Amino acid sequence: MNKDIKKFNLQFKNASPQEVISFSLNKFKHKIAFASSFGLEDQVIIDMIASIDKYAEIFTLDTGRLFPETYNLISETQKRYNIKIKIFFPDNEHVEKMVIEKGINLFYDNVENRRLCCNIRKVRQLERALKGLDAWICGIRKEQSVSREDSQMFEWDDNNNLININPLVNWTWTQVWEYIKKHNVPYNPLHDKGYMSIGCQPCTRPVKQGEDIRSGRWWWEYYEHKECGLHSNE
Ligand code: SF4
Repeated sequence: MNKDIKKFNLQFKNASPQEVISFSLNKFKHKIAFASSFGLEDQVIIDMIASIDKYAEIFTLDTGRLFPETYNLISETQKRYNIKIKIFFPDNEHVEKMVIEKGINLFYDNVENRRLCCNIRKVRQLERALKGLDAWICGIRKEQSVSREDSQMFEWDDNNNLININPLVNWTWTQVWEYIKKHNVPYNPLHDKGYMSIGCQPCTRPVKQGEDIRSGRWWWEYYEHKECGLHSNE
């Protein structure tokens, strides 16, 4: 598998994201899915996927704590592209137990609680979503944070045991915006209010100019703790 990944990275070194997506959907057929959290990069990828294969599998994780704007965007995107988006929800018993024992806003208390919440509301759903797949497409870009600057177009995802494909890995924030505007792609209005990376409502805030794109996520934690466990390079 590592040999394949090396080969793909070489083969698609100068390829466009559309070429990478098209190749990947064709190569992995019904064993590939796109994981969207409806951020700006994800909207670019959805636009590309919809023009390549309307029936490609797209899924998202609804933690139950998303912004109202994100739910509106999910609905708008479904209608605009006439696509099906699979939504994975957390196990209600796990969430209820966690909230009874630790409180509704447990994540602010300490890193362990925050990781528990991310695990119950996101990571376990991701495991369900990826079950049986050989590859998943994500909106990761090198520029997003220091922990992502070594990301590759194709990489092995140790956490989830499958290939991770990042078609926009080399794109800049400016390129993402240019695509959104040029193709009139629907996007989360929170991006116009200073939010760059948008996750759950209580754990996301706007960032100031020049700050790391992901610095608005879990801003009360030290940098080395600030990932949710969805990606192996985090
Ligand atoms: Fe819970 Fe916050 Fe993680 Fe969302 S981002 S799952 S609310 S800790």
